[in-house]
Amino acid sequence: MKFKVFVQNALHARALVLLAALAMTCWSSFAQAPPAAGAAPKEQIEGFKEHLLPGGKWYQHDSDRPQPPIVTPGAAFSQAAPPPSDAEVLFDGKDLAKWQNDRGQAANWKVLDGYMEVTRGGDIRTRGKWSDFQLHVEWAAPTQTAGLHGQSRGNSGILINNMYEVQVLDSYNDKTYADGQAGAIYGQMPPLVNASKPPGEWQTYDIIWESPRWNDNHELVQKACVTVLHNGVVIQHKAEFIGSTDGIGGGVPWRGTSKYTPHSPEVFVQLQNHNTNPVRFRNIWLRDLHLAERQ
Ligand code: MG
Repeated sequence: MKFKVFVQNALHARALVLLAALAMTCWSSFAQAPPAAGAAPKEQIEGFKEHLLPGGKWYQHDSDRPQPPIVTPGAAFSQAAPPPSDAEVLFDGKDLAKWQNDRGQAANWKVLDGYMEVTRGGDIRTRGKWSDFQLHVEWAAPTQTAGLHGQSRGNSGILINNMYEVQVLDSYNDKTYADGQAGAIYGQMPPLVNASKPPGEWQTYDIIWESPRWNDNHELVQKACVTVLHNGVVIQHKAEFIGSTDGIGGGVPWRGTSKYTPHSPEVFVQLQNHNTNPVRFRNIWLRDLHLAERQ
């Protein structure tokens, strides 16, 4: 009898040990479960190390690429700047007559009190096209930031020809991979500095754009080139695109290797609807630089 009780107790104890081990294993695998690809808690920087960029130093969307120094911009630079006499006003706060969706239909973003706001239904683009231009655009990131971090926070973009993105993002007191923050040539070149204003405040981009050119043999002879002032601070200076931005309309998938695809130098300006982040835009005007006609 005593022996039988001993055996029963021993089996019982062994079962408990096995159960405890199983529980530990489950808890451990749960606790160490990797986060979703690219996602990171607020204190960490999301990122990837898949494709080395030209120069061989940094990967596309590299979390280790240094964060640009923070510069506090002046209180105002070109906020609410009246357009010069030779500018084409693309948005004066009243209507979206100069804009369309990617199917050529009227743009459906909300127009409210002098600004437009990203609305469900896709990006919007200008009806006009230009080769080389000076673009003034003002934007404000959403003030609702709770639980939002990195690429999820006020993401939009200035997408030239739906192929080349100057990133719009709330990069004020929030980090993401350096080549994806506000003013970055997305996936390619971080801004020289981070001149962001807080969410809800109007910020300016003054962008000087030169279209890429191909010769008659379809050989690239001039890369797309951009200079950007963010809130009056130079953040890109004659920066050349490696090729089309990954993850937008230029035929390069997100996290894919950028490359050029020949196209006309005449390009449209597109504003990005990124998961309907309610980014606002106002006072958009453009000056055609007529560089090709210069004597
Ligand atoms: Mg974007």
